Amino acid sequence: MLYAIVEGVKESASPTSKGQCPFCESEMVPKCGDFKSWHWAHKRVVSCDAWYKPETEWHRRWKNVFGIKNCEVILIRAGQKHIADIQTIHGRIIELQNSPINLETIESREKFYGSNMIWIINGIHFIENFITYPTQGTEFDTYTPEFEKFAKMHGFTPKYRMLGEENRERFKWKRPKQVWGHAKAQVYIDFGNEFLFFIIQGLGTSNGTGANISKKQFIIEHGGDESLVSTVINIK
Ligand SMILES: [Zn+2]
Repeated sequence: MLYAIVEGVKESASPTSKGQCPFCESEMVPKCGDFKSWHWAHKRVVSCDAWYKPETEWHRRWKNVFGIKNCEVILIRAGQKHIADIQTIHGRIIELQNSPINLETIESREKFYGSNMIWIINGIHFIENFITYPTQGTEFDTYTPEFEKFAKMHGFTPKYRMLGEENRERFKWKRPKQVWGHAKAQVYIDFGNEFLFFIIQGLGTSNGTGANISKKQFIIEHGGDESLVSTVINIK
């Protein structure tokens, strides 16, 4: 985890500090090496959040973009308690998924966090099976004031793309992770570059459409620190 409770206050790890897990209150030790983001680990194996999964540098970098207040947020709903990876300033939950997932996990997370959640999947593990290419042909008109006038003059209604559709792409997914077809929340796939691939249609199948959304745009939209965008690109 990125944060522990040090003398009653949520704090990041530093070499000599001692902390407590904000969830299970057991002792945590700082891990402050040269290569990975500084973080905390439980000193002993304890039963912490049953949903807790081993964290990678990928998790830590994404969490860090949203800052101390907005990541590792403990939520209690309907008698259940869990730590959300990120709760944005707008109250949206972002769950970071690095490892394979099963249906039960997808459903339980979506039930607990509600429809107002987003999945970011680390796609680096299946990048070689996933190709994207621009949508063929143009069934849409390109907006210009002149064209708008022309259409009016000739009595037809132009068909424009909705905002954000200009970067729409098709994808082909070899050996798709079919379980994701059950996800109801929005899904973005992180292939390590400067974009997140937002799935519009066909998630979990071998063909579909999506759109490249720049990580910077995503971070701004969800209230993260855009100056940290480079830390979530090409994570080693
Ligand atoms: Zn714990």
